[in-house]
Amino acid sequence: MSQWITVLGATGSIGSSTLDVIRRHPTRYRVYALTGFSRIDQLVSIAVEFSPKFIVVPTLAAANKAQALLASSQHECEILVGADALVDVASAKDVDMVMASIVGAAGLLPTLAAAKAGKRVLLANKEALVMAGPLFMQAIRDNGAELLPIDSEHNAIFQSLPANYRGDFSQHGIEKILLTASGGPFRNKTKAELSQVTPAQAVAHPNWSMGAKISVDSATLMNKGLELIEACFLFNCRADQVQVVVHPQSVIHSMVQYRDGSVIAELGQPDMRTPIAYGMAWPERIDAGVKHLDLFDIARLDFTEPDHETFPCLNLAKDAFERGGICPAVLNAANEIAVAAFLAEQISFLAIPELIQKVMSLCPEKLVHCLDDILAADKWAREQANSILAEFKNNKQLAGQE
Ligand code: NAD
Ligand code: MG
Repeated sequence: MSQWITVLGATGSIGSSTLDVIRRHPTRYRVYALTGFSRIDQLVSIAVEFSPKFIVVPTLAAANKAQALLASSQHECEILVGADALVDVASAKDVDMVMASIVGAAGLLPTLAAAKAGKRVLLANKEALVMAGPLFMQAIRDNGAELLPIDSEHNAIFQSLPANYRGDFSQHGIEKILLTASGGPFRNKTKAELSQVTPAQAVAHPNWSMGAKISVDSATLMNKGLELIEACFLFNCRADQVQVVVHPQSVIHSMVQYRDGSVIAELGQPDMRTPIAYGMAWPERIDAGVKHLDLFDIARLDFTEPDHETFPCLNLAKDAFERGGICPAVLNAANEIAVAAFLAEQISFLAIPELIQKVMSLCPEKLVHCLDDILAADKWAREQANSILAEFKNNKQLAGQE
């Protein structure tokens, strides 16, 4: 029997890779809904190919455009509008699994809705987990949902942990997680060199092809910071039990180190279709269309420590996790504003950590009791970040160029 999947963020990089896996298994998976925020033409063309029951667009104008395009292709599917519709298609009764691949905080509510509806949640949207880790994990447990990490590192860790792992390192003799990082496009660059880098250079990742926001996060190492927090929530460990290892080839996707000296790793091509197919078919394995790894081709693997001085975002994230409460949500929101400003060429690359650090220094110690606490923290942090951004602009102060 086919399994029904909703792909949130179907027009993005992870969305496209997911659809490619589905394309290879047309009887095993059927598409329930596809959602997109921009690129309505692309959304309609994948709707024509995959025949979902619903597509979700952000505005009435986008719905009209989609309607006209669908009519000209003589294809029918229901068009839903707005953020509530994302929640509906993530939690609908007929849906078996949800690919959570909207970028940023916008993905939180539908991803949480999928967890609360007891779906298999294929979690690419790390920002949702960073913002709402404890609430999200509780929703998974309380509703019998299945959480399959899609982020390649966390997928590798999941594969390297014992199959019966339930969140207790000591029970299984686990010492630490070795979280690998490619180092991004600016590995080995000095601060002086970083002050001049452009958005185009930042999004040109050496190993992975990804959306613009995560590519900039990779370049600042905030991506690794968000992933460190993601690992702590997913696998129930402390930040000091996760060691970041820079591994420029991105062949090892992460490792688990055990008490007896064993280190278990998952290796593969830097191609997201592998973790996506793993999550969709788990515990089975299916063809993902990925070229097999040729170790003779690779020949060598390198490992170094991260450069915390030049790339402060990793430690900003670690601090936010250790402070707890609303801090990870505040960090995430400040980062989203900073990255968008950098991509819009309003601030320099080095101003990204500066802006985040300023917001974090204002962040009060507050516990999270419910979702509203997180949404309020997210809103507060965006306001703070925007006003600091306005100061940066007024002073014409682009960090690193003073
Ligand atoms: P992307 O920018 O290519 O795609 C983002 C998708 O989200 C698009 O479909 C877009 O239309 C949609 N979207 C954007 N803003 C929205 C909003 N406000 N409301 C509703 N939908 C919105 O991003 P991506 O690279 O595919 O990354 C998606 C998520 O997966 C991110 O959280 C990222 O951190 C994570 N991730 C990506 C990769 C990768 O290789 N690309 C790897 C690991 C994790
Ligand atoms: Mg990753």
